[in-house]
Amino acid sequence: MKMKTKILVSACLLGENCKYSGGNNKNDEVIALSEEYDLVPICPECFAGLPIPRVPSEIKDGRVYSKNGEDLTDKFLDGAQQALYIAKECNAPCAVLKENSPSCGFGKIYDGSFSGKKIDGNGIAAQLLFDNEIQIFGESQIRCLKNLY
Ligand code: SF4
Repeated sequence: MKMKTKILVSACLLGENCKYSGGNNKNDEVIALSEEYDLVPICPECFAGLPIPRVPSEIKDGRVYSKNGEDLTDKFLDGAQQALYIAKECNAPCAVLKENSPSCGFGKIYDGSFSGKKIDGNGIAAQLLFDNEIQIFGESQIRCLKNLY
């Protein structure tokens, strides 16, 4: 039997309760990718040692701040490095990441004002993975993954 390609997936999309709120972003279409791929869950913010639940964070001028003003940039970078390590270990060509998150978002992120406004930009982990030649898909783009790898 052909080995399935391993791909990284934001754990919250798979139903893990790792969101800042203590909930998840379970997405059945993402979970169904397991028919074709070996899904490897990652949560860069958990890897960073941040608690669940936690105060939400957003990116402002390239740095990550929690809503109560704590600069968490170094922690987010640490979590991103751990996600990259896993990607390399399992030779993942791509990652399906939760859209708009300060870790996992790719293309659009919240603007740092905690008002729900989005701007162009990438989350810290998504950026690091992308810089290391890992293709990034948001959950709304997974149809592109059909027979891709
Ligand atoms: Fe989901 Fe990524 Fe946030 Fe973890 S860091 S809860 S995987 S969006």
